Amino acid sequence: MTIATDISAPRTPEPLGPAGPARRPTGAACRPAGIRSGAAERRAPRPGVADCPKTMVDGPCGGVRSDGGCETGDRPCAFVGPGAAAPRTRPVGRVPLAAPAAALLGVLDARPLIVAELPSSGPDPDELRRTAGVLAGHVDAALLGDAPWARVQLPPALRATLVAAEGVRPWASLNCRDRNRVALEGELAGLAAAGVAAVHCVTGDHPLTGGRPDALPVFDLDAVALAALAAGSGLAVSVAESPSAPPADERPARAARKAAAGADVVIVNHAGDEDALGAFVVATRALAPALRILVSVPLVCSTAGARRLEAFLPGAVPADVLAALDAPDPTAAAVDRAIAAAGRALAVDGVAGVDLSGVAGPGEEPVVAAALAWVGADLGGGS
Ligand code: SF4
Repeated sequence: MTIATDISAPRTPEPLGPAGPARRPTGAACRPAGIRSGAAERRAPRPGVADCPKTMVDGPCGGVRSDGGCETGDRPCAFVGPGAAAPRTRPVGRVPLAAPAAALLGVLDARPLIVAELPSSGPDPDELRRTAGVLAGHVDAALLGDAPWARVQLPPALRATLVAAEGVRPWASLNCRDRNRVALEGELAGLAAAGVAAVHCVTGDHPLTGGRPDALPVFDLDAVALAALAAGSGLAVSVAESPSAPPADERPARAARKAAAGADVVIVNHAGDEDALGAFVVATRALAPALRILVSVPLVCSTAGARRLEAFLPGAVPADVLAALDAPDPTAAAVDRAIAAAGRALAVDGVAGVDLSGVAGPGEEPVVAAALAWVGADLGGGS
């Protein structure tokens, strides 16, 4: 029997019922006898990952709680503690950098790289144009990720094209939560065709941790595998690492595995104080000397933004971020605080730049974008 024969067979449409998870068929019940799930077949032999809800091979992700618990809150992390799963490395498929990627990384020959994460409330092209336009000329690139409260975004290549039209170099982002390997390959091809310079490759938060718990997770790949895939696109490849997430002493080696897979840049989240950051940088550079290290600097202008950051990173919001909110002009104080924090990070030997991470409360995206532009300009960004 061929697939074409199956498709052409007469079918009786099912009556429509209520939408959503309650109607979704599960497991073998939705597959004909003898047909097994390809993803399940591929995942079954992976040692030790059955207890990871993201089926990661190169874990742990950055969402591990400080007590070693999984980010989903219902189990211990499969990669922390006795009997933890062993990580794997993957072969490098690096091709030479295309001109946009070489130009972006070439900024580092003269000065630190200044990147800003574009705040976004969702798939609104007008908001995207407005916030990107504010950043133009003040930062070297706008990182286009999602957020726990705004999972749905415009498709990466379209988003990057709209941002580039406003005069800002887009730094696209892909996660393994929402797309399988085929879709990710297509997105990488689209980004390369659109002339995008860089792509940030992350495993992605589990859907249960954000505003769309109704979504089925994919996790066909993890961040290391995606970085290896992206290294064949001609784009500069960045990855994330969280030095303070357990097991903290293994984080440099994990960053180095991502570099071995093809990452050019690691963006460091919630590293702790300068001493902890410096120790991570020294250890990482010893293992992966060519890996450029950017440090994430949070910028929060309101209590609503701080609440969002605290919900995402419980207990990890720096005290001076919260203290700035008590100032007569919280936005100006947040800008001053971010400039000072970025300066301290850039003073750490081996740090190649900063990623200004603006967290907006509802409706605050334009204000936060303006604050990011202010900080970026002060730090000398804009290429
Ligand atoms: S914390 Fe991350 S790596 Fe660990 S089990 Fe949970 S999803 Fe997997």
